[in-house]
Amino acid sequence: MSMPLAPQIAPFDYRLVPGSIRRIPESRMKHFFGKIIPLKFASVKDASATCRALAKDFGFTLKQETSSSKNIYLYCSREGIPDSRKGNKPIKRKRASIRCDCKWRIILFQNDADKQWEFRQSQNPQHCEHNHELIPPELMPRPWPTSMLERIAYYVNLGVRTNEIRTAIQREFPDQPWDERRFYNRLSDERSVFFNIKKIFLVFQARGFG
Ligand SMILES: [Zn+2]
Repeated sequence: MSMPLAPQIAPFDYRLVPGSIRRIPESRMKHFFGKIIPLKFASVKDASATCRALAKDFGFTLKQETSSSKNIYLYCSREGIPDSRKGNKPIKRKRASIRCDCKWRIILFQNDADKQWEFRQSQNPQHCEHNHELIPPELMPRPWPTSMLERIAYYVNLGVRTNEIRTAIQREFPDQPWDERRFYNRLSDERSVFFNIKKIFLVFQARGFG
């Protein structure tokens, strides 16, 4: 009597999914998943940072992750409905929304065996492809240089107002592409650090250590 053969699991073939033929076969995303899925990480932070860096190499960016009880989802930053399609409110934005309802995502989970963090792709082929062009690496937004971030922190610590900081930074770093959202995020980070240190200092002073 011969042993039954172990069932052969064929690799998922996107080409068998109706409607996916034009966009998906042999996509770069297969290559992306092939690079990230074999890796193991000691922490969510490491996993997320590596995934974000790799995504940039492939021409897309990721949103802040969201987690359910077991899984952490990292979504393409173009996920969601563009603001221009939401309701009838007039839109006041300095930058056009880049959201185009892209469904791409990747799932981060903790391996039961060794408690390491690993990625897997979604079973749903819609979640494994982008519905937009990817950005060539040379056009990918680059992080601002440390000197520029330090300068923002310097002005925040002097208590300079937002408008004046913006003007000063734009004048001092004319070659850096301006990104209002990035600027605001940086300001709020710096301000929270500054105010936390100040708070601690005031507590010490009140207790007679200062
Ligand atoms: Zn996308």
